[in-house]
Amino acid sequence: MQTDFTPEQLLDSDTAQTEKILRACVHCGFCTATCPTYVLLGDELDSPRGRIYLVKNMLEAGAAPPPETVKHIDRCLSCLGCMTTCPSGVNYMHLIDHGRKWIKERYRRPLLDRAARRMLGTVLSRPGLFRLALRAAALAKPLAPMLPARLRAMLELAPRSVPNPSPVDRAQIFPADGERRMRVALLPGCAQQVLRPEINAATIRLLTRHGCEVVVAAGSGCCGSLNHHLGQEDAALAFARANIDAWDGAGFDAIVANASGCGTTVKDYGFLFRDDPAYAKKAARVSALARDVSEVVAALGLKPGHGAGRVAYHSACSLQHGQKIHREPKALLAAAGFDPVEIPEGHLCCGSAGTYNLLQPELAGRLRARKLANIAGTKADFVAAGNIGCITQLAGDTLPVVHTVELLDWATGGPKPPALAAAGR
Ligand code: SF4
Ligand code: SF4
Repeated sequence: MQTDFTPEQLLDSDTAQTEKILRACVHCGFCTATCPTYVLLGDELDSPRGRIYLVKNMLEAGAAPPPETVKHIDRCLSCLGCMTTCPSGVNYMHLIDHGRKWIKERYRRPLLDRAARRMLGTVLSRPGLFRLALRAAALAKPLAPMLPARLRAMLELAPRSVPNPSPVDRAQIFPADGERRMRVALLPGCAQQVLRPEINAATIRLLTRHGCEVVVAAGSGCCGSLNHHLGQEDAALAFARANIDAWDGAGFDAIVANASGCGTTVKDYGFLFRDDPAYAKKAARVSALARDVSEVVAALGLKPGHGAGRVAYHSACSLQHGQKIHREPKALLAAAGFDPVEIPEGHLCCGSAGTYNLLQPELAGRLRARKLANIAGTKADFVAAGNIGCITQLAGDTLPVVHTVELLDWATGGPKPPALAAAGR
């Protein structure tokens, strides 16, 4: 794609980077067929190619974009399905991240939109605040039908009861069972430890059972991706710096993420800090050590498992498109004794996408309904996914939804996942 930036504009590192990405695009349009918003809306401006042009025009103009541009960029899920499809290697992730940051810095959103984004960026990434907000939301649930779409979506997604904080999420060391084969840091995360504390607990049991010493490092927490995808760059980088300080130089063999959205972001820390003289090298080292939990368990080799049941494996976008990990979790489930089955249209997002289901409830709801219909067709007993956003988005319907590590933990000696026990499976 031809670009028309001035030499002055290209002095900006983000713009220079984006120009390279734009030039890689050959307008072929292959990406449109696998883009969830294009599949739903059929509008070129809601396709990757359309958004690439919108970002290019917005940056070349060098000014605040018109509301129409913001509307189509906001509708992007950042699912990265287009990156899997693109034959030219266009790094759409870095392009749309730059677009969002540009919009955040130059475009004045309507008051309610600004307030919602600020609230989400502040609350979701802080477990204490998020727990309080969920408890309040549980009380307000009966009011949901009377509220505007966004507030209704927030209340509907809130669980009826909120678990207490888990002791495993405090900074501490969990020794390996038997001989230590690896020493890893576990990203404790933010929203996940509030919504489903059993996931970190299952991850720690699974890893220690397979010879890992697991460290929840003091100072580590939210990866920053929630803020990053809202274009709130300062907050995102502050979270990332805290993690880098907690992990770098501590002698870890791997840094483990069990929420694939977070893992994708930690793997990108090296890029995010490329121009920061104090953090560039440290961030690159951290990114080089970042692994999804399924990669670590696959490398260690799963102990014999006694799992049973047909599992619809939902391949989270951040795992299959962001990290190119698709086969490993299914192979682990099969090795543990389960019968993993593919979900038709597995490349399409479920609509979760960070805060997307809260900010774009109508489109997210349509994607959820489509995914649940495809899941129903698999005749599975339960659903497994490797990302808390997808688990929350798909739960609450007919089949219980659990994290892949909960099944692997259960099959190799851990307790039954609470969601399965509650559903009587
Ligand atoms: S990231 Fe997903 S929603 Fe956004 S343009 Fe690419 S395929 Fe479409
Ligand atoms: S598939 Fe790649 S090269 Fe083709 S239009 Fe989409 S982003 Fe551009």
